[in-house]
Amino acid sequence: MNSDTRITAARLYDLIQCPHRPSMDLFGNPEERDQVSPFVQLLWERGTAHELDVIGELSTPFLDLSGYSGKEKEAKTLEAMRQGEPLIYAGRITADNLVGEPDLLRREGDGYVAGDIKSGAGEEHSSTDSKPKKHYGVQLALYTDILERLGSAGSRVPFVWDVHGDEIPYDLDESHGSKSPWTMAEVYAETLRALSRIIDQTEVTTAAYSSMCKQCHWRSACSSQLEAANDLTLIPELGRARRDAMEEQLPSVIDLAAANVADYLDKKKTVFPGVGAAMLDKFHERARLAVDPDSEPYLTADVALPNANRELFFDIEVDPMRNVCYLHGFVERTNGDAGSEQYVSFFADDLTAAAEEKAFAAAWDYIQTSKPCSIYYYSKYERTIWRKLQEKYPHVCTRSDIDALFEDPLAVDLLYDVVKKATEWPTRDYSIKTLAGYLGFEWRDTEPSGAASIEWYDRWVKSGDEGIKQRILEYNEDDCIATRVLLDAVRALPLKPTS
Ligand code: SF4
Repeated sequence: MNSDTRITAARLYDLIQCPHRPSMDLFGNPEERDQVSPFVQLLWERGTAHELDVIGELSTPFLDLSGYSGKEKEAKTLEAMRQGEPLIYAGRITADNLVGEPDLLRREGDGYVAGDIKSGAGEEHSSTDSKPKKHYGVQLALYTDILERLGSAGSRVPFVWDVHGDEIPYDLDESHGSKSPWTMAEVYAETLRALSRIIDQTEVTTAAYSSMCKQCHWRSACSSQLEAANDLTLIPELGRARRDAMEEQLPSVIDLAAANVADYLDKKKTVFPGVGAAMLDKFHERARLAVDPDSEPYLTADVALPNANRELFFDIEVDPMRNVCYLHGFVERTNGDAGSEQYVSFFADDLTAAAEEKAFAAAWDYIQTSKPCSIYYYSKYERTIWRKLQEKYPHVCTRSDIDALFEDPLAVDLLYDVVKKATEWPTRDYSIKTLAGYLGFEWRDTEPSGAASIEWYDRWVKSGDEGIKQRILEYNEDDCIATRVLLDAVRALPLKPTS
């Protein structure tokens, strides 16, 4: 058990990411913790390096308290605030059981506003709008709460200095969302109450399987708990919120598999908030697949897959922190003959825009000269990144060229056009690793993952080590082959339409 049970920004951040994480960090058995993954370590290092870069380039004078810690840092911060210091870096403020270490405290009027330096985008962007990130916002709201309790708040609009060098204001009282409006102040208050209940152990949280688990240091411990409990979140796409709504009546996958769905219907709805009748049917079927040791995947509807002599299986690698797409990989197959398969790759040999453009242009030319061909990829990521590359390098091709490429019936997103739309699998998720692994495909690398490849790429950038580059290329080639393995399996699946 962790003896420090105060409310910190890191705990609020973690609670937004996973409601079970603070409980595990506070009360979990330390011996059950996994190693922090190299990717997470890289994120920490990048965050620290970015912060130091920003501070190093700051032209306005500031007071640097980064050399202090604990009570001494706090005393220095309070003294600096009393003196009216215009800008304080790496201070520490506390009030009651709240502890905050904002990167910046900036004097505004008679008080201070807090800010954090982030190595990511300052807001969530969608195709229609931008909104503040809740995991950033709760941290900023904590600092503001402490400043208000100290009587030192300059305003309720703290800020983020983001990776692009922009200052993003986080107005805590601004309303967001049209259907269910929320403010960051409300999110903070709710998160604070939830964390307080966890800390004083009046609320017991439970694990829930999600994509967050893959990078979490409790992944092994939580996975064991979930499997032992036969937890409903082990059903693909069911998730924590629906599990919480269903578990009182259907506590496990086995219970759901054995249930009569009609017993849980209330006219056209189900008795579970947030779970529609068709959805319950789908989860029921998935539960039946999961508990039957002889179950096999199947098609729920006919899928029209292209028949082209030449097939390209396409996968890209991106370093999101450097904002660079450094590899476009293709496995090319002719006439369905495995012996004809060859891997073709286009690697940006350095971090310059010229190298990124050259690799993109070569990949674009490769597709053009390969036509007629079908193209298979897994998820919308390739299209999203190629659209961004086109905007960056409009000499390579036009926006309508990119749209035509991905809207062509010969181009198939196997995840969204096929797997999610028209198949069922006895697996806990639909990642390419899970499905190709289920089909018996083995990656040559012992730790294959997109996150790991970003960390390898970082090491290649720093070292130029050809062995690391080869590891990345093999990983990318195996991802392309896994897509082919999945396609061949989908073609052979029996049809079992759902009603
Ligand atoms: S492994 Fe998953 S459920 Fe467990 S604490 Fe981490 S993110 Fe939460």
